[in-house]
Amino acid sequence: MKKIFLGIIVTGFSLLLLTGCNKTEEKKLDYLVLVNKYSQLPDDWEEKVELVDTKNAWDEDIKIEKETYDNYLKLKKDLEKDGVTIELDSVYRSVKAQQNLWDSWTVEKGIDYVRKYVAVPGYSEHHTGLAVDICLRKDGELEYENDDMIADRETFAKVHAKLADYGFILRYLENRDDITGYAYEPWHLRYVGSSEIAKEIKDKNLTFEEYLGQIEDIKDNKAAAKYRIEKTLQDYFKETYGDKISNSRFNITKIYSSEEEKELSSLKEMNLGKKDIAFEVTYQLQPSNDKVILELTENDGEYNKDFGWVTNISRVGILKYNDKTNSYTIDKFENNF
Ligand SMILES: [Zn+2]
Repeated sequence: MKKIFLGIIVTGFSLLLLTGCNKTEEKKLDYLVLVNKYSQLPDDWEEKVELVDTKNAWDEDIKIEKETYDNYLKLKKDLEKDGVTIELDSVYRSVKAQQNLWDSWTVEKGIDYVRKYVAVPGYSEHHTGLAVDICLRKDGELEYENDDMIADRETFAKVHAKLADYGFILRYLENRDDITGYAYEPWHLRYVGSSEIAKEIKDKNLTFEEYLGQIEDIKDNKAAAKYRIEKTLQDYFKETYGDKISNSRFNITKIYSSEEEKELSSLKEMNLGKKDIAFEVTYQLQPSNDKVILELTENDGEYNKDFGWVTNISRVGILKYNDKTNSYTIDKFENNF
């Protein structure tokens, strides 16, 4: 009898502990949450996120996630030193508000238009409260039209240079829309919860999707594959030639799709994994001294005296994916498959 009673007390106590732990666990927001056209806002997000009230550039009431707002204010203050004034435009949008927007625009403009320009409710990063659309104030006037902001490279370069210091990334990079699903938006900032992470994403020139390793079929995602090939080749040349090479550049002429791999018998025999990439490239190397020029030209490149580059070296290659390190190595790098 006593033992059972003690058992109940112990169980009750550990339950209490567990509940206590879960509560603190629940409060911690996942600042690396991925919401895009294919990845939906987590169900419990709206009950977890702590929003604060503020005003946007037009003095309208808006909401924004608390930590995002604190860091936004620091960023804004820092930018004032460079003579740049940023203001908030659109920030938090509830799933319900997005649904209303979707419905009213469908009536007004038709479903085809809406599918093209409006994020599906549940799939907009603005639901998180961590996505911030900014606009600029210049000599008292607001600059907020998309085209004007895209053209204003000088000012946005200053803004983008300081984002990582406050845990923000530029979410929709130029020429990466096949990964992110969106064209270049210099105004759309995303808070990721840490300046270290934001710096890593910026320094490696990654999209948020690439940082999170979310790209499954990289072969059909040419921009992601291209990025991987260039990065791996750069590392490969650095390792092979050391400081004999001062620079390298690439023109990736083909990335084999999964279908093409099956058709080419030599590739078929190699039995490539889902994330392995077969490609063709023409590359150029800039030697640091004369000795290496000879070594390289013996290979098959041509040295251009005027420009100081060894050019026109063509190769086919395979990047092998290592799932333990989420990295690639060159497996084959020859004249043909
Ligand atoms: Zn936005």
